[in-house]
Amino acid sequence: PILANSTLQAIRGMNDQLPAETGLCQFLEQELGSLLQAYGYREIRFPIVEKTELFKRSIGEVTDIVEKEMYTFDDRNGDSLTMRPEGTAGCVRAVLQHGLLNEGVQRLWYMGPMFRHERPQKGRYRQFHQIGAEVFGLSGPDIDAEMIMMTARFWKMLGLNDVRLHINSLGNAQSRNRYRDSLVEYLQGHYEELDDDSKRRLLTNPLRILDSKNPDMRPLIESAPRMGDYLDDASSAHFTELRERLDAAEIAYTVDDTLVRGLDYYCDTVFEWITDTLGAQGTICAGGRYDGLVGQLGGKDCPAVGFAMGLERLIGMLATTREVVQNPHAYFVGVGDSVQIEMQTYAEKLRDSLPALRLTVNAGGGSFKSQFKKADRSGSELALILGEEELAQGIVAIKYLRDSAAEQTTVAADELAGWLAQNLKI
Ligand code: ATP
Ligand code: MG
Repeated sequence: PILANSTLQAIRGMNDQLPAETGLCQFLEQELGSLLQAYGYREIRFPIVEKTELFKRSIGEVTDIVEKEMYTFDDRNGDSLTMRPEGTAGCVRAVLQHGLLNEGVQRLWYMGPMFRHERPQKGRYRQFHQIGAEVFGLSGPDIDAEMIMMTARFWKMLGLNDVRLHINSLGNAQSRNRYRDSLVEYLQGHYEELDDDSKRRLLTNPLRILDSKNPDMRPLIESAPRMGDYLDDASSAHFTELRERLDAAEIAYTVDDTLVRGLDYYCDTVFEWITDTLGAQGTICAGGRYDGLVGQLGGKDCPAVGFAMGLERLIGMLATTREVVQNPHAYFVGVGDSVQIEMQTYAEKLRDSLPALRLTVNAGGGSFKSQFKKADRSGSELALILGEEELAQGIVAIKYLRDSAAEQTTVAADELAGWLAQNLKI
């Protein structure tokens, strides 16, 4: 064993991201962030820790998250605080606290770590990362459609083809109550066929039974009453128009009657993007409408809709198709004590004229051989070599590290920036 027993380890389900992996994260964050900005969404940042009350009131007391997944603790003044398990609650809290809803429609996005005490497995962690978006002040299906179109564009942009869209309508509170009653009646008629989880949920959160991941429960769920039959006219019209808009945009979808989402605050539109390439944890993006939440958290009633995607799952999909290279373009090797200072001033000049140049300058001296080894190990394309002779002649030698067929060359020191710009296409 390399690690002694006393060596501290990270908490299970909370992962380090090593330099070899962060390139893909940065790529994803940049691409998604700029697409969101392009649709007119602006970034909002809010704290990782909030009062526990906020999550209980928004997500719902009888949800998996609040019942068993939250990282909750008392801080030193005895307040109960919770590490955010999702972003919507904190986003709504911030928007209300700062009166953003008085400034008209808000299209917002956020990004960052979320915390849930779940059983760690592939695609399911205790600290994971989401990019999410929320829109406040719009009640029509046009904005629901926009969000779905935007997420569809994400996948296209990232080259992810293996994703499918499930949508459903949960209707409004009244129609959902009527539906809940008939669902409970139906399930009570099949009480013996329910698993323990479902028996428990029958009394507390029966809709969640539809969401059961237990395959034995599927047949029962398939023949349960359908939410779609209980929608009132307004919700039906909303859902029909959403589907028309998706059809017009040529976005394929499946209407999935059993899609209920795990949080209490949803109404009308809910959707999930699912892939089969990740195994069991296949939902990469999930969202829906939550018109009641702003009021529930003390604001004036305000329609809202949002989604969140799990970055680890996206990275899991991208990792097989895309490599993000972060290696240096060039590694500067300085041979001999007398060139060390010049090497560094040359490098700073290069950075002045080529801000995009990824240049690692050898530090700590060393023989030509040992520096050259470091250059190679850095993954750099080129080694720039400055020795006493080169210094005297005002040139820099250039060696290709990845292309064994390419000949070593020399370039005048004051033309080096131009040469690099042209040859590295930066
Ligand atoms: P699941 O059904 O997989 O538990 P969820 O309904 O709890 O998902 P949401 O709260 O809707 O998930 O979160 C949105 C997205 O965040 C999910 O679709 C998923 O991509 C990601 N996600 C949720 N929980 C985790 C987790 N523990 N680890 C990694 N990603 C997660
Ligand atoms: Mg979950």
